[in-house]
Amino acid sequence: MALQEIQDRLQKAESVAGRPSGSVSLVAVSKMQPDERVDSVLEQGYRIFGENRVQEAAGKWPAFKERYEGVELHLLGPLQTNKARQAMELFDVIHSVDRPKIAKAIARLSEELGHCPDLFLQVNTGEEPQKAGVLPSELDAFVEECRDMGLPVIGLMCIPPVDEEASLHFALLAKLAKRNGLTGLSMGMSGDFEKAVAQGATHVRVGSAIFGSRDYPPKT
Ligand SMILES: *Cc1c(COP(=O)(O)O)cnc(C)c1O
Repeated sequence: MALQEIQDRLQKAESVAGRPSGSVSLVAVSKMQPDERVDSVLEQGYRIFGENRVQEAAGKWPAFKERYEGVELHLLGPLQTNKARQAMELFDVIHSVDRPKIAKAIARLSEELGHCPDLFLQVNTGEEPQKAGVLPSELDAFVEECRDMGLPVIGLMCIPPVDEEASLHFALLAKLAKRNGLTGLSMGMSGDFEKAVAQGATHVRVGSAIFGSRDYPPKT
């Protein structure tokens, strides 16, 4: 079964890296997956899931949460200001805080709601124009700004460019986190999570390797 296989590979990667078993959190990315596949992973007792879009998550997770206790939900995709309230009510962790405007909206809402999800700041390590995240050169100031607002920033997140060696980006993210006194590192997906663990990932985000490919049922 795929979940077990990924958990075994993760444990092996922790061991190879000389890290304690269970030190890396496996976020099962259920975006665009049919409900029966998500159900099957929930039935196996797994509870940590990631979604890319607030709208999609809001459409399916309230029902799952009613049927299964203890679900921990992570938002991985871009967040719009007008969806921030909904996101903060639904998600336990947000990995994609990528600009001051959304950080300010989250700070405002956390006062009003009386709680705030744990936050990762997204860094555009490849400096790709089309990709979300702050540039590495802007990060230190952004971390400081978020801290000044009292936001619970627990770490950094990146999505490396597809055509570059991911390990270089993971190493850069680890360096940036260390420099800013942050311990959380959200990095590594289906194709490269073992490399991310070797570079110190604390959260890996694995979708298709657990659930199967997302183009299901095949479009005709
Ligand atoms: C979809 C997605 C993942 C999971 O991707 P897989 O290749 O299916 O493991 C991880 N992180 C983010 C931000 C994603 O959007």
